[in-house]
Amino acid sequence: MNSAIYNPTNPHHPSSQFPQIKTCKTLKELQQVHAHFIKTRQIHDPLAAAEVLRSYALSNHRNIEHARALFNQMKTPNCFSWNTIFRALAESSVPEHPLEALLLFSRMVCDGLVAPNKFTFPSVLKACSRLGNAQVGKSIHGMVVKFGLECDEFVVSSLVRMYLMCGVMEDAHLLFSRSVGGCGDSSEKKQEGNVVLWNLIVDGHVRVGEFSAARELFDRMPQRSVVSWNAMISAYAQNGFFREAVDMFRDMQIGDVLPNYVTLISVLPAIARLGALDLGEWVHLFAGKHKIGIDDVLGSALVDMYSKCGSIEKALLVFEQLPKKNVITWNAAISGLAIHGRGKDALHYFLKMGRAGVVPSDVTYIGLLSACSHGGMVEQGRSLFNHMINVAGLEPRIEHYGCMVDLLGRAGLLEEAEELILNMPIPPDDVIWKSLLGACKIQGNIEMDQRVAKILMDMAPRDSGSYVALSNMYASLGNWEAVSNVRMLMKDMDIRKDPGGSWIELDGVLHEFLVEDKSHSRAGEIHSMLEEISNKLRLQGYKPNTTQVLLNIDEEEKQSALHYHSEKIAVAFGLISSASQSPLRVVKNLRICEDCHSSIKLISKIYKRKIIVRDRKRFHHFEHGLCSCNDYW
Ligand code: ZN
Ligand code: ZN
Repeated sequence: MNSAIYNPTNPHHPSSQFPQIKTCKTLKELQQVHAHFIKTRQIHDPLAAAEVLRSYALSNHRNIEHARALFNQMKTPNCFSWNTIFRALAESSVPEHPLEALLLFSRMVCDGLVAPNKFTFPSVLKACSRLGNAQVGKSIHGMVVKFGLECDEFVVSSLVRMYLMCGVMEDAHLLFSRSVGGCGDSSEKKQEGNVVLWNLIVDGHVRVGEFSAARELFDRMPQRSVVSWNAMISAYAQNGFFREAVDMFRDMQIGDVLPNYVTLISVLPAIARLGALDLGEWVHLFAGKHKIGIDDVLGSALVDMYSKCGSIEKALLVFEQLPKKNVITWNAAISGLAIHGRGKDALHYFLKMGRAGVVPSDVTYIGLLSACSHGGMVEQGRSLFNHMINVAGLEPRIEHYGCMVDLLGRAGLLEEAEELILNMPIPPDDVIWKSLLGACKIQGNIEMDQRVAKILMDMAPRDSGSYVALSNMYASLGNWEAVSNVRMLMKDMDIRKDPGGSWIELDGVLHEFLVEDKSHSRAGEIHSMLEEISNKLRLQGYKPNTTQVLLNIDEEEKQSALHYHSEKIAVAFGLISSASQSPLRVVKNLRICEDCHSSIKLISKIYKRKIIVRDRKRFHHFEHGLCSCNDYW
């Protein structure tokens, strides 16, 4: 073969000699060209055969069976053809194909007619990664050394990736530090190659859940690309470290690497969870300014962010403007309406979704059922639940049963709710029993309350929720002896209450408060404000509701404990720190208590402020002394 014409090491092998192959749009067209090549005996030209193979193996109209058949007919496939078939098999979604790639590779090595080159190893190593076979990977590593390719950055990064994917962190690190440290090559190209390696190793640690190790490496990176930032941001966001994800996104803005589409998709869920509306709006503006197209995926993330940050109007605005909406977009709008207590609108959107020809998923029904639950729409809830099973043909998951129990329980249909739990085809979990427990408390059904609390304690003995509920129930009856027994039990088992926490975003900064928090830099002013609030509340004839305080202490102390619930501290801080017209947006990690709920209603009236509180379940929009939930939550 004339290497001046055909260079098998070039992955972008010019196919200009065979334009008829390149212009094929379908498998059928390609087969016709193939047949023509056979007829004209052109197929015996290794270049022509290699091109047809490449098109069978890797084009949009690829067909691995045809590729394999052609490859097997080749008497002495050239390196380009070997590499083509390796890559096609290594990247194939058929589970058996990566192994086939490895078997073929050993045939290539045994035949010894063609030597593998630097484009061979990445595909073969990929096959090892997909099989998770570090043993074979290691012997291929040996071959890389034998063929003198250990300094090729493309091959080295494939090796590092293979070790990481197979979970052999030690070898990955060894190779990584040798590659980024050694050679003494500090050229720009080498630096860029190093960024790829750094990204790989950071991502490898993320994959196995070693976030602090990943972060340590990230901080040590001499140079970071947008991929590096995205790896860390999405790692944090997807694993519940929302604060860290958002902080990292802010750090990114200080540097000279601009966020891209992937960055925005990764950070928006974290922003949504924290309720950081200002930052979310910034992301939205950024996308517009930098011409990052808002497609259905980014659009869904924006709709979700706006609704979780308390601005359902903006969520719906983004929703309406989206040219393309998928089922996730519709779900974001429907569950957004649900958590804002707009049950009727949620049902309306469901009808619109059907008219738009989008098939609802089981997540759609979670949104709908919780909309019914928040809105007290029992009949609609029941019929949607049946619709889901009988018309949509979807199997209800535990979440759907949870919504139904919640819906029935809140509406006072405790027996029906309990019956539903007992007749579920799947075993009920603690979340389901907890929602029944919550309903018992609202309905004041002490007998069922005790029964359910005991079931819960057996089920999740380490969970504070059932103990607190039981203890609060005894407290509301004034049975302090029973309260102290429950507390003793909790102490014996070393069970602590989930600490309540709230946060509020002001001028793009998140301020976090815990129960009885005195750590804030403006703690003194906040405290005076809390005093002022309680005086004004008292003048309005407000009496604190102290039945939900866990402790058996005298009235005065109980009242002061209530003053310091984190959502109240956040509201006090918001009142002294923001312009008098701007609404306050507070996020609380637990369910808002009755006392905070009724006092924030009054605060909204006294201070003429719109206050929006998102608790663990839903939004409360407080205005003119009323709440959007109509005290039903
Ligand atoms: Zn409270
Ligand atoms: Zn409310």
